[in-house]
Amino acid sequence: MSIDRYGVMGYPVSHSRSPVIHRLFALQTSQDMQYELLQVTPEKLEIAVRQFQRTGGKGLNVTVPHKSEITRLVDHLSERASTAGAVNTLTFKEDEILGDNTDGFGLMRDLVANLGLTLEGSNILVLGAGGATRGIIGPLLDMQPASVRIANRTLGKAQALADHFSRSGPVTACRFNVVPVSDQYDLIINATSAGLHGESPPYPSAAVSESTVCYDLSYGLNATPFSAWAIEHGAAQAVMGWGMLVEQAAESFRIWRGIRPNTAEVLKHMKITA
Ligand code: NDP
Repeated sequence: MSIDRYGVMGYPVSHSRSPVIHRLFALQTSQDMQYELLQVTPEKLEIAVRQFQRTGGKGLNVTVPHKSEITRLVDHLSERASTAGAVNTLTFKEDEILGDNTDGFGLMRDLVANLGLTLEGSNILVLGAGGATRGIIGPLLDMQPASVRIANRTLGKAQALADHFSRSGPVTACRFNVVPVSDQYDLIINATSAGLHGESPPYPSAAVSESTVCYDLSYGLNATPFSAWAIEHGAAQAVMGWGMLVEQAAESFRIWRGIRPNTAEVLKHMKITA
C-alpha cells in the first residue's frame, strides 16, 4: 500500500517550515504519511492541484498567494473558510475537494491559549488585507474586541474586507500609511507579506504604545523587520508567528488524520532549529 501524501503549495514556498512540522506531528502520533513542498505559480495552480489529487494525494495546505483563488476549485467549503473567503487546507475525498481555513483558529490559539492575551474590549490593528487577513478577521471579531482596523497598501482590498465582515463586528479600513495618529492599539498584527519579499514598508509608529503587543504572522530565527520595528518603537511585546504556524498546522493535521498533536513540544523544537 502506498504512503498517504500531503503537501504545501505556494509561490514562493521554499521558506515554508510546514514539511518539518508535519513530519514531527507524524512521528509524535505514529502516522505513516509524507509531506512535500510544492512550488506552484498562480497560472499552474489548478493543474497542479488536480494532478496531486489524481495521483492519490490526500490533502494540501495552500499558502501565499493562492488562498483566495483556490476557493474556485473547492466543492465544499467549511463555514470558517466560507466566512473568510479563503482556504488554507484542502482534503481530497473520493472525487471531491473539501476546503477549510485553519489560520484564524491557529492565531487565536496562539494569542489566547499560548500567550494569555485577553482580546475582549481591545483595539486591534491588522496590517495587510490578503488571504491571511481574510482568515483571521472573523475569529478576531468573535472575541468581541472594541474595534478592528484593517490597514492596507491597496485601500480597496481593506475596504472590501471591512464591508464583508461589518455584520460580525466593529471593523473599519484605512490606507497602510495613514493609520490615524490618535489611534493607539492593544494589539497590532502584521499580516503583510512584505518581509517575504525583503521589503520593509513604513509601519505606523504612532499606533504603538508601551502596552501594545505586536504580532508578526511572519517568522524567522532572527527578529523579522516588523518585530525589530516593534521593539525599536517601545512595544510591550514583539511576537513572531511561530505559534500560529504550528497551531494552524495542528488543526490541518487533525482534519486529515483525526488526531490532535501536542503543539507545545513542536513549537519549542521549531524555535530552536528553524
Ligand atoms: P497575500 O499575498 O494574500 O497578501 C499580501 C498582503 O501583503 C497584501 O495585503 C499586500 O498589500 C501586502 N503587502 C505586500 N507587500 C507589501 C509592502 N511592501 N508594503 C505594504 N504591504 C505589502 O499573502 P497572505 O495574506 O496569504 O500572507 C501574508 C503573510 O502572512 C505572509 O508573510 C505569510 O507567510 C504569513 N502567514 C503566516 C502564517 C502563520 O501561520 N504564521 C499563516 C498565514 C500567513 P496589497 O493588497 O496592497 O498588495
